[in-house]
Amino acid sequence: MDKGAFLERAREGAELIKMHIELGHTIRLISHRDADGITAGAILAKAVAREGGTFQLSIVKQVSEDLIRELAEERREIYVFSDLGSGSMELIEKHLDFATVVVADHHPPEKESFSNDSHVLVNPVPFGANSVRDLSGSGVAYFVAKEMNEKNRDLAYIALVGSVGDMQEIDGTFHGMNLDIIEDGKELGILEVRKELRLFGRESRPLRQMLAYSTNPELPGITGDERNAIEWLRSKGFDPDVHYWQLREEEKRKLHDALVIHLIKHGAPKEAIDRLIGDVVVSPLYPEGDPRHEAREFATLLNATGRLNAGTLGVAICLGDEDAYKKAKKMLDDYKREQIEARKFIVQNWSMADEGEHAYVFYAGKNIRDTLVGIAANIAINAGLADPEKPVVVIADSEEDENLVKGSARTTEKALAKGYHLGEALKEVAEKLGGEGGGHAIAAGIRFPKGRIDEFIRLFNEALAKQVGREGSED
Ligand code: C5P
Ligand code: C5P
Ligand code: ZN
Repeated sequence: MDKGAFLERAREGAELIKMHIELGHTIRLISHRDADGITAGAILAKAVAREGGTFQLSIVKQVSEDLIRELAEERREIYVFSDLGSGSMELIEKHLDFATVVVADHHPPEKESFSNDSHVLVNPVPFGANSVRDLSGSGVAYFVAKEMNEKNRDLAYIALVGSVGDMQEIDGTFHGMNLDIIEDGKELGILEVRKELRLFGRESRPLRQMLAYSTNPELPGITGDERNAIEWLRSKGFDPDVHYWQLREEEKRKLHDALVIHLIKHGAPKEAIDRLIGDVVVSPLYPEGDPRHEAREFATLLNATGRLNAGTLGVAICLGDEDAYKKAKKMLDDYKREQIEARKFIVQNWSMADEGEHAYVFYAGKNIRDTLVGIAANIAINAGLADPEKPVVVIADSEEDENLVKGSARTTEKALAKGYHLGEALKEVAEKLGGEGGGHAIAAGIRFPKGRIDEFIRLFNEALAKQVGREGSED
């Protein structure tokens, strides 16, 4: 990718924010409700505060025309969107034409830049980046913050927490400009990248849970079954109650070997084996055993806050608030438990899925929370329920509006090679169904009226059919 040109945009965004701080304007920050968005919001909030500015931050589930209208009514001088906005550039131009707007995001944008001179798109995708690999929303926010003040390099660890939350290192290694953030963090001595087991729970979970909770990859016969995990661990000579971080290096290696052999024995796909061991980011800013010490656990903690509409609590944690951390810790247990339940539901009821020519659609009603449908769709793929070359959509009733459903589409690199772009397909289908949709090629979301699920199935398969045969889409 053309890093220089991207950083030039980051500098433009940074200069605008600094100018408004100097003018005494409150910086209106709007960020996304997942770990990537929460860390992005925290990074920008910290950067503004550091320059002596004031900010007001909202953590939102998605951008809609209603949200942009409400923001417009606030009549601010400057709005800064992070980890969202690129799919709503036209709406932003339409309603926020009176203000300065900076969009710091990594979603495939509607167009390469804004037509309005006081609006800046800071997004690596038009410069050749892969949106789910090379930089996350928190990473974009990090580069804007760094252009505001070099001191903000001390936010490198938080930026990587967002990146891990978005699964940017899904294949086991970091790519693109994530590597520059790692370099900054290493130089400052605030993070370290190790080759370790890439599963949730390194710090705060006993091994039996670390293995039983593993859905990415699935551990055949172990995932979802803590008793089997205990037995398996004992048979390999491990204490199931010990934590991964407490293991000696040779014990870690022994565990890795045993898991790899287990996966091979059960015929797991090569990609699943490859991503089991890989880059794990830890930070000496927190003690061993603290979920914030390792990026995946930190990200899961933040996702747990976002899901309960407590995203600003997550932001406070990123900014070092110990009380916020204590409150959020309680949310994490329920969140993980629900994920395991969602997995169980989809595994047991997969026969209900509609298998079309190009996609599976699984409607879970109220059995899976609308915030967990993305995880459920990935589980359908990783647990081998779905053919990995066919995208999966899991749909659940919306928690906010009983007339709406929320769907998440997920797929694999293999399927993308056929030409699919789930974000484009869902955007197109949403327009026809009177909903909102969009996202990356490999991971995208949609909300639409509940009565139109059958139509959705038809339209989505049709949209994907049109895409087949195009050159594989990378972002
Ligand atoms: O909104 P945002 O960009 O932050 O979210 C990206 C989403 O894509 C996350 O939910 C992440 O888990 C998902 N993802 C995925 N498979 C990948 C990469 C990202 O499901 N290979
Ligand atoms: O909602 P879900 O987690 O399935 O979203 C997957 C990806 O699609 C995320 O990156 C999300 O920000 C994006 N998305 C979007 N526009 C929507 C819905 C989701 O860009 N309307
Ligand atoms: Zn993101």
